[in-house]
Amino acid sequence: MSNRLCDWSECGRLAGRGWDVHGKYYCGPHYFPGLEKAFLEEYSRWDGVREPSDRFKNLFSRYVERLYPLGGMPEKLSQGRIEVRAAAWKKTQVGLEFSIERHLTAYRWGGPVKTVNQEWRFGLQTKDLVLLGQQDAMPRKLSLIATGAKSSVPANSSAGR
Ligand SMILES: [Zn+2]
Repeated sequence: MSNRLCDWSECGRLAGRGWDVHGKYYCGPHYFPGLEKAFLEEYSRWDGVREPSDRFKNLFSRYVERLYPLGGMPEKLSQGRIEVRAAAWKKTQVGLEFSIERHLTAYRWGGPVKTVNQEWRFGLQTKDLVLLGQQDAMPRKLSLIATGAKSSVPANSSAGR
């Protein structure tokens, strides 16, 4: 255990275990503001063109995790998944967008697992994650036309035999 003091200016309380943000240590009440500050600094440093740094991904995912208490991120996203799997990061007017590969169970009775790519937006002002869209990771040519109709399955044509 350490006797480090909270790095928030003029706080003076003892820093808590685990409430560190890349070399800075905070007390309970200052952990979230410290994390937010570090993320926003990293965000402004990011050119929005190149893939953001590991530090950025770590700070962003931890920040978002804190915005959804009790693990309640939409679509069961998690801090770890965002940090490790998010890709195609884009800086936008309102914040950022990223794409993430998800493995969904296609049918309620436990059918095959389906891989999709989800596009997410995070707004700096609104402080929320919004699902913009979702596509099959390996789309087939006829997948759009065939939705809801299985007419193209030849094995089903039993008429007249
Ligand atoms: Zn403090």
